[in-house]
Amino acid sequence: MHADVIIVGAGFAGLGMGIRLRRDTQHSFLILERADSVGGTWRDNTYPGVACDIPSQLYSFSFRQKADWSRVFAPGAEIAGYLREAAADEGLLPSIHFGTALESARWDARQNLWRLTTSRGPYTARVLITAAGRLSEPRVPAIDGLESFTGRQFHTAEWNHDIDFAGQRVGVIGTGASAIQVVPQLVARGAEVVVFQRSAPYVVPRNDRAYEPDERARFADHPHALDTARADYFAEAELGFEQKRHDSEAARQHRSRAAAHLEAQVADPALRELLTPDYEIGCKRVLISSDYYPAVASPHVTLEASPLERVSGDSAIAASGRSYELDVLVFATGFETTELPFARLIHGIDGLSLASHWAAGMTAFASTAVHGFPNLFIIDGPLASLGHNSAIVMIEAQIDYILGALTDPRAVLEVSAAAEQEYCAELDRRSAQTVWVRGGCSSWYLDARTGRQTLLWPGTAADFRATNGHFDPAPYAVPDTVQLDDANLDAAKLVSIR
Ligand code: NAP
Repeated sequence: MHADVIIVGAGFAGLGMGIRLRRDTQHSFLILERADSVGGTWRDNTYPGVACDIPSQLYSFSFRQKADWSRVFAPGAEIAGYLREAAADEGLLPSIHFGTALESARWDARQNLWRLTTSRGPYTARVLITAAGRLSEPRVPAIDGLESFTGRQFHTAEWNHDIDFAGQRVGVIGTGASAIQVVPQLVARGAEVVVFQRSAPYVVPRNDRAYEPDERARFADHPHALDTARADYFAEAELGFEQKRHDSEAARQHRSRAAAHLEAQVADPALRELLTPDYEIGCKRVLISSDYYPAVASPHVTLEASPLERVSGDSAIAASGRSYELDVLVFATGFETTELPFARLIHGIDGLSLASHWAAGMTAFASTAVHGFPNLFIIDGPLASLGHNSAIVMIEAQIDYILGALTDPRAVLEVSAAAEQEYCAELDRRSAQTVWVRGGCSSWYLDARTGRQTLLWPGTAADFRATNGHFDPAPYAVPDTVQLDDANLDAAKLVSIR
């Protein structure tokens, strides 16, 4: 099967790309989705308490706003519903091939197209867009003896909904954004919880609330009120980038707010000590919760301030040597972020895999295009995340960039090596001034092979859009190794030579 454009993934990024292609262009396109429904991370993460920590008006498409969000921070199921409705309303469903997992994608330099193999057969496309997410492959650490565990175990992104947690002894491994949402919910369901904390997170108040019916009516009746709410949330969030600068006054103030929140919610000084991070605020994602500390301080939770080291039968043994008999292990241990699995499947000019190109860490020009991989565009890949504002704003900027690149339907676009290197070197320089690199922690933002920060855009979201929200052909060159026969010479309009 052939399409001008093939998109891999039907989460926020893939659906957004599909909607814009369908609304604004004549290109034929298909979306390949390995699961049997849309929604990506919001389809997969169904653990109790899952919710967004970006306000709903901002965590939705600017071109498809929703007036009736139930809360300031929407629950995960509501976001998943929003995406299902968007896919159906926008007429995307016939273009989505469900149950279709990408197995390989190879650039055919003679025909100037991508040849894909999938679990449902072959496809070809002129342009390949990966929208497979950066938080989509659960990561479970290698724990000695884990296979001997006699209870049930699963990752937060693969929740087991068959368990009645009342009276169950549950070990939660990790204290990131997923863990702090799930722990209070487990306690509320009557579980006895042991939290294995390798490093303490910073937590600030959540300030969530339900929208009143009259507020929702106002949003429905006055769409500009939605625009205003979105703009206000955006502007407020943008201020947060100052907190990411190493040793800044904004970071110190942020740290004071987190310390005050801990002090207000946890009376026991010994527990407070254990919950106090030993690195600079913002080095890892700052968590927002008003019910995590009270849950940890409750008699139903034991905070084990060391990682899970070993499992033997029903015993989970921490690095401290303390042992806990448990019925369930919940791995809130995050995702494969710096070595994205789809990179092993994609082969560009000369058959080189994207994973090989990224052997020293992910790189891309405009956070989207990679030398040696013509007509490949990556959404949500290298240097395109944020620690302070909405991922959807970034996705939309990348979509605009790609739409610009697709303006000439016959172009073969390969970004130059120099452009990719210069762009990444500049972002490395900027990252070096941030708490992500200098804050004294290890996080999913850093590539373990090099220590390089390869995930986050080191600037504001507005700066990302200004830099990368439009396409400029100048850094693109004719692929040296592309062999053009007569037919393809006509078909491949080469954009510019640098
Ligand atoms: P995460 O932030 O990567 O947290 C993983 C946790 O597991 C960390 O506390 C980590 O400890 C711990 N861990 C990893 N390996 C371990 C080991 N061997 N032993 C003990 N502990 C171990 O993952 P996440 O909580 O799933 O969140 C990932 C991202 O998803 C977030 O940063 C956020 O962007 C997004 N998210 C957002 C929301 C929301 O909007 N509210 C909710 C969930 C997730 P260390 O800290 O010591 O490494």
